[in-house]
Amino acid sequence: MANKRDYYEVLGVNKNATPEELKKAYRKMALQYHPDRNPGDKGAEEKFKEAAEAYDVLSSPDKKARYDQFGHAGMGGGASSGYGGGGMSMDDIFSHFGNIFSDLTGGGGFGDFFAGGSGGNGRARQHVNRGGDIRVRVKLTLEEISKGVEKKIKVSKKQACTTCHGSGAETPNDYKTCPTCRGRGYVTHIARTFIGEMQQTVVCQACGGDGKLITKKCRKCDGQGVVNGEDVITINIPAGVMDGMQLSFSGKGHAALHGGVAGNLIVLIEEIQHPFFERDNQNLHINQFISITEAIFGDKVEVPTLDGKVMVKIEPGTQSGKLLRLREKGLPVMQRHGRGDLIICINVWTPKNLSKEERAVLETIKDSPNLKPKENSAEKGFFDHIRDFFK
Ligand SMILES: [Zn+2]
Ligand SMILES: [Zn+2]
Repeated sequence: MANKRDYYEVLGVNKNATPEELKKAYRKMALQYHPDRNPGDKGAEEKFKEAAEAYDVLSSPDKKARYDQFGHAGMGGGASSGYGGGGMSMDDIFSHFGNIFSDLTGGGGFGDFFAGGSGGNGRARQHVNRGGDIRVRVKLTLEEISKGVEKKIKVSKKQACTTCHGSGAETPNDYKTCPTCRGRGYVTHIARTFIGEMQQTVVCQACGGDGKLITKKCRKCDGQGVVNGEDVITINIPAGVMDGMQLSFSGKGHAALHGGVAGNLIVLIEEIQHPFFERDNQNLHINQFISITEAIFGDKVEVPTLDGKVMVKIEPGTQSGKLLRLREKGLPVMQRHGRGDLIICINVWTPKNLSKEERAVLETIKDSPNLKPKENSAEKGFFDHIRDFFK
């Protein structure tokens, strides 16, 4: 193998490199050319294998001594390199050096480090793929919020592949045990931290935590186990939700890769402004106009509520600004008993378009002292009403 590159050159180290320097150099190369990061790149795969072979030799004192003395010729019989001509296979590399690759994720990437593992005996919990969340906005009227409502929401969504039932493999036999983690789905390695060396258990990068590798991918989903699709999701929104609230419907989000747990559907509530009710938490406010004569003589007037119209008594001599409270005619409190109130603010309507006759009648009494507002009188004004109301 005359054209084989020098192992020291491959790793970019000198002949006096310490085992730690060799390991560091190899990890750097492996990180750069790792097949997970260079899918389908043959050149990267060759470099990845070349680096593994170089590290295999230089990290072994025996092999290194032979290589230093005889070069590539010392590594095996005849023209062969000792690796059967084709160098190390990917499986060899992962099973030999899996513990080196495992920390290549190094906190980046998946971010799903296992909690356990530091004690050495502590069994790491099983890794589970989780699908992504889907976020949607739902606009609701106060009427819908008052009673709760069922909504059907159309979403673009990753769904479990029906051909492989989410497994990603063409048939149930198209798997092999992951050689890196030997089917465990996680790998353990020693990590240097500022408090010293720690044993860390991380998700196996080779199999993504599945513990197995697909040998023949499902053609429909290309081995992902999920396909893009559309779904209509039916959700029940409880009564009493508020604008800006987020509701999470578990398992209604994207399907997970390789048959894991589906993500959540997260619904952001938007309240549509009501034409005449104003919301104040669970209470509703409404402005109610009454006529001058209703204000003077008193009457019963019709007031809308979310449950339909009700008759409300107006006392004789009612002023603008008077507040009336209708108990339990507001909104329900989410997941609790009881409702808020409807608060009616009375406004006296001043007419603009009067007939000649109406004007004539009013002209006759317009200077009556009883029609004049009583300044500084003992009668309560607008702000007194509000103060009393909220006492
Ligand atoms: Zn499939
Ligand atoms: Zn694995």
